[in-house]
Amino acid sequence: MIHIKLFIFNPFQVNTYVLYEESGAAVIIDPGCYSPGEAQELAGFIEKQGLTPEWLLNTHTHIDHILGNSFVHGKYDLLPAYHADGAFFVANAAIHGRSFGLEVGQVCKEYRRLEEQDTIRFGNSELRCLHTPGHADGSLCFYAVNQNFVITGDLIFFESIGRFDLPGGNYDLLEKSIREKIFTLPGHTVLYPGHGHETTVEHERMFNPFVSDAGSV
Ligand SMILES: [Zn+2]
Ligand SMILES: [Zn+2]
Repeated sequence: MIHIKLFIFNPFQVNTYVLYEESGAAVIIDPGCYSPGEAQELAGFIEKQGLTPEWLLNTHTHIDHILGNSFVHGKYDLLPAYHADGAFFVANAAIHGRSFGLEVGQVCKEYRRLEEQDTIRFGNSELRCLHTPGHADGSLCFYAVNQNFVITGDLIFFESIGRFDLPGGNYDLLEKSIREKIFTLPGHTVLYPGHGHETTVEHERMFNPFVSDAGSV
């Protein structure tokens, strides 16, 4: 059984998730830790729980979601894993960070490629990759099929959706990703977004003003 630990890090208030089993096998998703204190908070939890991180996953590679990649890479010897279409953002992370007043430092450019329907295994658990572009090139969701939850990154939020006005953003693609990859999942599937609190497929189908079924004919 997968347990979910949430941290909220950096000035963008990004949700960093640690998924872990009783066995200690764990994955770290979107480590946004920026300050030394935030990095310590993440590492302290992992140590206290006796976890062994086996994957460093990025839903997408916007700066707020990768600020802690170098720390996690160095500490646990894990290469970041993300979709190849997101490599462009990593290459430009230092410039992008500076535009927000953030010193990004050394950025790990090596990565493990993830694609649609790839399966990520840790311990006895599995996550399935769903390719869901629209917010940023290479956006992925990580779907825990057996436990009915999805880590959605910035694709969809509680009664809202990800920005599509940034480079690589596209509303039509975003809506298609949500309708085809998220709204087709069972209604009680829990969605854990990249910012803000969790929601469910059913709730968003009913109440999301940007893509709800309510207004469609
Ligand atoms: Zn984003
Ligand atoms: Zn974000």
